[in-house]
Amino acid sequence: PYQGMSKERLLQIRQHKCNPMTTKVTYYQRPVFIHHGYMQWLWDMDGRRYLDMFAGVATVSVGHCHPKVREATEKQLGRLWHTSAIYVHPQIQEYAEKLTSHLPEPLRVVYLTNSGSEANDLALLMARLHTGNYAITTLRGAYHGGSGMTIDLTSNAAYKFPVTSGQGCHSTMCPDVFRGPWGGSHCRDSPVQTTRECNCSPGQCLANNKYIDQLKEVFATCVPHQIAGLFAEPIQGVGGVVQYPRNFLRDAYKLVREKGGICIADEVQTGFARTGSHYWGFQGHDVIPDMVTMAKGIANGFPMGAVVTTEEIARSFGKGLHFNTFGGGPLSCAVASSVLDVIKEDGLQETCEEVGTYLLEQLAKLRDKHEIVGDVRGKGLMIGVEMVKDKVSRDPLPPEHMDEIFEDTKDMGVLIGKGGNYAQVFRLKPPLCVTKADADFFLAVFDQALQNYTERR
Ligand code: PMP
Repeated sequence: PYQGMSKERLLQIRQHKCNPMTTKVTYYQRPVFIHHGYMQWLWDMDGRRYLDMFAGVATVSVGHCHPKVREATEKQLGRLWHTSAIYVHPQIQEYAEKLTSHLPEPLRVVYLTNSGSEANDLALLMARLHTGNYAITTLRGAYHGGSGMTIDLTSNAAYKFPVTSGQGCHSTMCPDVFRGPWGGSHCRDSPVQTTRECNCSPGQCLANNKYIDQLKEVFATCVPHQIAGLFAEPIQGVGGVVQYPRNFLRDAYKLVREKGGICIADEVQTGFARTGSHYWGFQGHDVIPDMVTMAKGIANGFPMGAVVTTEEIARSFGKGLHFNTFGGGPLSCAVASSVLDVIKEDGLQETCEEVGTYLLEQLAKLRDKHEIVGDVRGKGLMIGVEMVKDKVSRDPLPPEHMDEIFEDTKDMGVLIGKGGNYAQVFRLKPPLCVTKADADFFLAVFDQALQNYTERR
């Protein structure tokens, strides 16, 4: 048991001294004091167990303190923690080789960082250097980081600050087939469809054409010259698990390349088998990016990130010297390498597809049962449940109402996440080791929380 400071003192520090802003977006009214975790479970300081359906925002990929990852970490801890990039260390080179073996040609060159923001920062610099262009396009609602440069790429209101930003970044409308002006039931690639009617004809996604027109308009009006590139998540995470029309990324990549830009897939949330059907989210869109950025699940919660790109782009980057003291040291590479092994050995991509599809199908039943569940979407264990005042208006359920359900779900033993531009989407991104029994437990709890909410009205 924890024998340090009192809960009251910890809370005071959290609220006043230790990044106090975070309380704004993540706080439970009755906060959870986490003590330890194992696989898909977390325990609080009073010994209460929670099913972790959020995994620190899709970060704990294979399970908290996974025994095999822990063993690999402990082995490396006893050997060497850090070395400088001026030496060769087998752990690092072997990891780069192993990571690229999971990616298609021509993605062969790896740069290791400490976080997703750092990876996107580097990708942005490389895109500009390689193309000689400055302008960048992103999708509205996206989160690509909070660092000095990536904050410009992020276009999610909650994370914006009233300072000069947006240097060279031009966002286009997010092709959201549920909340956006166009789209509906058959536009996206998910085991469950939206309940929203769509006007698309077979083989011709009108919604996709409309959203692509928006991108064309951004180019025509804001960036008539050549561009450096497009950043896009294969499924938008923080933005509320938004899935685009099936061909959107393929068509957008084509346009971007015509404008002289390169295409960057931000796989910080969607990578490492999370979407179930594929190892990388971009594979679900039938595209090959010029650069892939990753973090979070890469090392099961150990701080690490990466950029993987082509030899050609890497050559353009060779004009200067790139150095990162901690990025991809022997310890993080040992952790990340064991994560790749565990995903394979524990069959987690398959679990992810099976349990994820089951969850989606069962959640669709809850959507049909409860008026306030507007949409259920996602792939694998990257799932969003969009909450509405009612199914006709599709107005977002107000934040205080979301909080009631959020809090109730937690009090019944399940931790979930929130997201979306209006904080109107519950997000489920558990460790990939969750089982069908866990899914059933979550579904029972969530159903009850929705029922409780309705009864209180
Ligand atoms: N890209 C995406 C898609 C993310 O979700 C995040 C983090 N939420 C980042 C980049 C930034 O990663 P980090 O917090 O490790 O800097």
